[in-house]
Amino acid sequence: QAKNSGGNSVCAYSPDMSEAVETRFSTEAMINDGLRQGEFLPYYQAKVDLASGDVIGAEALCRWKRPETGLVSPTDFIPLAEETGQIVPIGNLMLREACAFAVECNSGRTTPFVVAVNVSPRQLMYGQFLRNLQQSLEETGCEPGWVSLEITESLLITDDGAVMETLNAIAGLGIEIAIDDFGTGYSALGYLTRFPISCLKIDQSFVRRIVDDPQQEILVRAILTMAHGLGMKVVAEGIESQRVADMLHAMKCEIGQGYLWHKPSPAKDFLAGLAKHPLMKIAS
Ligand code: C2E
Ligand code: MG
Ligand code: MG
Ligand code: MG
Repeated sequence: QAKNSGGNSVCAYSPDMSEAVETRFSTEAMINDGLRQGEFLPYYQAKVDLASGDVIGAEALCRWKRPETGLVSPTDFIPLAEETGQIVPIGNLMLREACAFAVECNSGRTTPFVVAVNVSPRQLMYGQFLRNLQQSLEETGCEPGWVSLEITESLLITDDGAVMETLNAIAGLGIEIAIDDFGTGYSALGYLTRFPISCLKIDQSFVRRIVDDPQQEILVRAILTMAHGLGMKVVAEGIESQRVADMLHAMKCEIGQGYLWHKPSPAKDFLAGLAKHPLMKIAS
């Protein structure tokens, strides 16, 4: 009888269905509690210049630190938070934290240290995004050149004038916009020239296989050629071995990120690592 299982209507659900709905609602309530209790926080993972080995930036990755269960991975709560809209307060918190962290990382530096933040489509399409972003910058004293935003291809295939306007305004502030998980979305490549994109992040699923799969190597080379031709930088994510890092460097990929160098860690540990290494290298 329950034809419309996705809607809000309460009708005759099957037993598993109601269980799923209950889990959903209780997770939603737990996220609200977590937000009130300040249980969401960023971890940071280093981004490394493949030519020099220097740490030139970091990506902020959200963690949910629940007293009951410990750290919860974003893959376990971001999708639901996107559906419920809770990604907006979570995302604002991440933005603000990342800006404050960027200020700390840039103190005493001459070259900018760039902190990247992941932004969900829902969050960016929410009208207040730009204002929240500017507020985070102002309140923390963060320069626009110290932050970058990682968005996904799915945002760009929605043919929405407001998205274009927001992204242009962000780029106009001097904030870099990167496409995350590049190559895994719908890849209607035309969007790359319509939107102000300055960086592509090649998805881990391609990166990892370049050593033993010549076809993957060809794909990665093609992405690099295209990106560089369009004046974009390329970040390879999920680098776990020196061999992969060396191959990517040889292919002229500029930046790497992965467990080879660093696993995401709390701000305090990250900063301690930076302080210990004068060239801002973090040991693996
Ligand atoms: P992402 O933005 O593509 O982040 C990269 C993910 O790969 C992170 O997982 C990172 O910990 C993991 N990773 C980095 N290096 C390696 C490696 O060498 N090997 C392997 N196996 N994994 C590696 P994490 O932290 O679990 O985040 C998963 C996803 O959750 C992120 O993927 C992003 O899409 C989303 N996410 C995380 N934080 C936020 C946030 O604040 N806002 C939004 N909207 N999404 C977020
Ligand atoms: Mg990312
Ligand atoms: Mg990614
Ligand atoms: Mg990913």
